[in-house]
Amino acid sequence: MAEQKRDYYEVLGVDRNADDAALKKAYRVLAKKYHPDMNPGDKEAEKKFKEASEAYAVLSDPEKRRQYDQFGHAAFEGGAGGAGGFGGFDFNSADFGDIFGDIFGDLFGGRRSGGARSGPMKGANLRTSVRITFEEAVFGTEKEIELTVKEECKTCHGTGAKPGTSPVTCPKCGGKGQVVFTQQSFFGTVRNVQTCPDCGGSGKIIREKCPDCRGTGYVPMKKRFAVTIPAGIDNGQCKRLAGQGEPGINGGPRGDVLVEVIVGRHPIFQRQDTNIYSTVPISFAVAALGGEVVIDTVDGKVIYDVKPGTQTDTRVRLKGKGVPSLRNKDVRGDHYVTLVVQTPEKLSFEAKELLRKFDEHTGDSLHAAERVSGEEPHREKKKRGFFNK
Ligand SMILES: [Zn+2]
Ligand SMILES: [Zn+2]
Repeated sequence: MAEQKRDYYEVLGVDRNADDAALKKAYRVLAKKYHPDMNPGDKEAEKKFKEASEAYAVLSDPEKRRQYDQFGHAAFEGGAGGAGGFGGFDFNSADFGDIFGDIFGDLFGGRRSGGARSGPMKGANLRTSVRITFEEAVFGTEKEIELTVKEECKTCHGTGAKPGTSPVTCPKCGGKGQVVFTQQSFFGTVRNVQTCPDCGGSGKIIREKCPDCRGTGYVPMKKRFAVTIPAGIDNGQCKRLAGQGEPGINGGPRGDVLVEVIVGRHPIFQRQDTNIYSTVPISFAVAALGGEVVIDTVDGKVIYDVKPGTQTDTRVRLKGKGVPSLRNKDVRGDHYVTLVVQTPEKLSFEAKELLRKFDEHTGDSLHAAERVSGEEPHREKKKRGFFNK
């Protein structure tokens, strides 16, 4: 059985509102303590180092942090396969260096100098949205979306060179994609690595461009994706399709597709977090005497026993009839129902007589008020408006 993953905030020993500076500070302390270079051959230290690095990589990325806060570790499960998952944490991903570069740079003495963005880079993210119904958000669903994504050009097989020709090695950088400048400074010689200006880091130059992709190696194509939307998703939340976005640069991995979920309104249910709210009318007689009412829930109709003497606007709770939690679909919110007593408007002669008799039995309210205040009530004259004379 897999080991239970620790909460990222707990791993770093920070609270959930920790800002970037606090995260960085906490991670620096742990990274220094557990770095494999400092603890050669210590498996436990290596594990701790990886755990802290993973926590920091996720929490220092605002989007990944938001996903984690919403979904917990589930946000990054099943990412390896791409379309199904939320986009996993990947130690090999290109942005790893960007996240940790400056920390290790000053921890271990300028291992990464210059900060030039060269070499493989992750492609851009693509954003889209999908509309689902209230019930689909509650129980989860599968949707198909169509997106225009850059795919490898079949004419040049992604090289960008005209068929029959091939890209040549960049003479400026000798195919490395980077050029090195040395500089004298206060601290000694500083080597600055920068992306080659001639080839843009690819190490290759295309002399004759492929006509189909104009030398880019990619052509836009319509692609369909299956999107698994988990039970409990709320309006405005995003589902990530890892590695399905724009192609990477210089051999870097693809970006992600972010699918914003737009949840339609329901005619009778409202939702707040994992709770559902609705209003159900009950008759005057049921309110007074008690009785059964039928209540619509997302699980179907439920019969509820109204207690005798129920006042209007009484709120009752149907436990566990709400929305599943995204973090744990077995935990569901509740459904709160407001019972609204309907005052009868159209009454038959017999019904009116019965109500008068009823009123006599329970005591005339007008006189009851007089008894309480001890004053003769002042009768408000019925105002007659200009229009209903
Ligand atoms: Zn091409
Ligand atoms: Zn070059």
